[in-house]
Amino acid sequence: MYKRQEEHVFYAKIIFVNASTISTTALLLHSTSNRFPDGLGNDSGQLGHNLMDHHSSAGASGTHYGYQDKYYKGRRPCGFLIARFENLDDNRNNNDFLRGYNIQGHGERQGWSDKFIDLKGYGKDFKKDLSTPGPWTVWMAGWGECLPYFDNKISLHATQRDKWGLPLVSIDFSFKENENRMMVHIQKQAEEMLKSAGFENVNGFNYHHPGGSTAHEMGTARMGKDPKTSVLNNFNQMHAVSNVFVTDGSCMTSSASQNPSLTYMALTARASRYAVEKLKKNEL
Ligand SMILES: Cc1cc2nc3c(=O)[nH]c(=O)nc-3n(C[C@H](O)[C@H](O)[C@H](O)COP(=O)(O)OP(=O)(O)OC[C@H]3O[C@@H](n4cnc5c(N)ncnc54)[C@H](O)[C@@H]3O)c2cc1C
Repeated sequence: MYKRQEEHVFYAKIIFVNASTISTTALLLHSTSNRFPDGLGNDSGQLGHNLMDHHSSAGASGTHYGYQDKYYKGRRPCGFLIARFENLDDNRNNNDFLRGYNIQGHGERQGWSDKFIDLKGYGKDFKKDLSTPGPWTVWMAGWGECLPYFDNKISLHATQRDKWGLPLVSIDFSFKENENRMMVHIQKQAEEMLKSAGFENVNGFNYHHPGGSTAHEMGTARMGKDPKTSVLNNFNQMHAVSNVFVTDGSCMTSSASQNPSLTYMALTARASRYAVEKLKKNEL
């Protein structure tokens, strides 16, 4: 049984709800009243729906036996990012999937631990062998766009509560055909790139991680021009409650393939300026 906690009441002219996508959405869904029986600002019925996360399960790794005279400082060189290169023009889509992905990865020299498997030698030579780095390896995977599906959603559990007495969050999410087809393409492309670059022992993979694994959840209080189909307007302001703003990932209408946090920050800066201007003009 949960124990009811102390209650505090705060008043503010403007409220930014930015508890990160899932918590923000849960908070809004839980904020019901006669005016908003299905959650604050949820006239459209979109609140909680269209949940997205990037998939980053598919890619390839390989070993390169060249460049053994090259080394780097620290534990490994900087990672790399190959910008999106497929379906750049959506009108001329040459693939069996929509939208696209970027590839992220890193290269490093192998360490000494594999030499433990077959210990050979003694003294100075043995020490030198152990402290000589192994060949170069590269691991890379595609960060892929997930389309917004109405039935990928967050809802509040009907009966179960957390220790503060708030409803537990239920999540229904799966990657679908488009994402699965994109993953097949990513794996093939990654394998081809490594082979063309002279890598050996190339291993393509698809970990089939579930949604949430890339921790880029977004989309559950979408922006839009039409209050009938969206929760927020183009300045992240609730269509139905003009002094409430949401600028975390819940506002996104598509996930694109980029890491998303800089976009959230840019949207936050823009919405804050808009809110301050409105406040100064007494329009909030
Ligand atoms: C391991 C990992 C690696 C990542 N790497 C990248 C990356 O390389 N690039 C990238 O773009 N993104 C990355 N992300 C995603 C990134 O962390 C999120 O997109 C970003 O933090 C979202 O910002 P936010 O402000 O919405 O939420 P958060 O940063 O989670 O902040 C929300 C805040 O609200 C607070 N809060 C929640 N509920 C309540 C409540 N009821 N009352 C009061 N406070 C509350 C939380 O404590 C928290 O401080 C990564 C995530 C993880 C987990």
